[in-house]
Amino acid sequence: MSKRDYYDVLGVARNASADEIKKAYRKLAIKYHPDKNPGDKAAEESFKEAAEAYEVLSNPEKKQRYDHYGHAGVGGGGYSGGGMNMEDIFSQFGDIFGGGSPFESFFGGGGQQRGGRRVAKGSNLRIKVKLTLEEIANGTEKKIKVNKQITCKTCDGTGARDRSSISTCSTCGGSGAVRRVTNTILGQMQTTSTCPTCNGSGQQVTAKCTACHGDGTVRGEETITINIPAGVSDGMQLSMSGKGNAAPNGGIPGDLIILIEEIPHETLKREGNNIVYDMHISIVDAALGYSAEVPTIDGKAKIKIEPGTQSGKLLRLKGKGIPEINSYHRGDEIIHVNIWTPKALNAEERAILEKLRDSPNFKPQPGKHDKSFFEKMKEYFE
Ligand SMILES: [Zn+2]
Ligand SMILES: [Zn+2]
Repeated sequence: MSKRDYYDVLGVARNASADEIKKAYRKLAIKYHPDKNPGDKAAEESFKEAAEAYEVLSNPEKKQRYDHYGHAGVGGGGYSGGGMNMEDIFSQFGDIFGGGSPFESFFGGGGQQRGGRRVAKGSNLRIKVKLTLEEIANGTEKKIKVNKQITCKTCDGTGARDRSSISTCSTCGGSGAVRRVTNTILGQMQTTSTCPTCNGSGQQVTAKCTACHGDGTVRGEETITINIPAGVSDGMQLSMSGKGNAAPNGGIPGDLIILIEEIPHETLKREGNNIVYDMHISIVDAALGYSAEVPTIDGKAKIKIEPGTQSGKLLRLKGKGIPEINSYHRGDEIIHVNIWTPKALNAEERAILEKLRDSPNFKPQPGKHDKSFFEKMKEYFE
């Protein structure tokens, strides 16, 4: 299922101000709030969709990436990035409604939290991945060793010395939450808030694990396999949910954010999804024509240089560019032909050229078919 445009989701124009975006989101958040629509799956989906749209459009950096690359720029590309869980959404409400959020500590109603318990989330981890143009063109799999917080194997993430040192929290009886009635902008409602004693885990540890000092996580190494889709570009970020730092006490791990860096190619230059190759041929080859070999992102290709080829001619190899991310469309390779004028001549070469100097065929005769460089560029890139 393809994602809806974030601006459409919030019902704002592409040039809407930050304030307009916030107002639009606030309206939708109230309309689709799970407390107003108990058990309504469609409302819940709309609620999440709006939160995700707001999450991106309220962040200038993400908004810019979204405006440039669409969903792919903000964690698309088949990754689960961008999707928000209820907890993320509610933690965002402090900014939207100003000061203390009216929905603070809303748990359980959305059916998202594990048995009403608050679950701690690990922090996100950021890494850079450098890719060659060939890897970008074909997509690639990278195995990367990352140093991060991993679940403590000694206690299995519980933070307890052994099973007998874990007991049910006496304050909340193991539910992880305490109930209370609050007045909110939606009227009076019963909310549950995180148990202050156990921090929502529902459990108390009486003796701590000695390996992790009760944290449930330790520093460690993990080799992560990252599938990079074809067509990514420099500066793009992908996210893999759950591959970040492990959370204390068996919570949800954070995300792994992958920043793409493009290694410049020796001879080929990327222009969007097209590849540009600056080719140099001799005057003789230009005049007589020949079958030339040019580099492409997947090996060499043959092209025909017609007799009488002019300098500045643009040739196109269809489909030899970069694939568009999440699409079947592929860019082209564009070959810019330059005619190489010899910089040094021996006596014999000089004599031959002197003979040709006054030949009528060697006098420049540009006609109406010889377009200017600007006209040619327009034709190829528009
Ligand atoms: Zn431990
Ligand atoms: Zn408790």
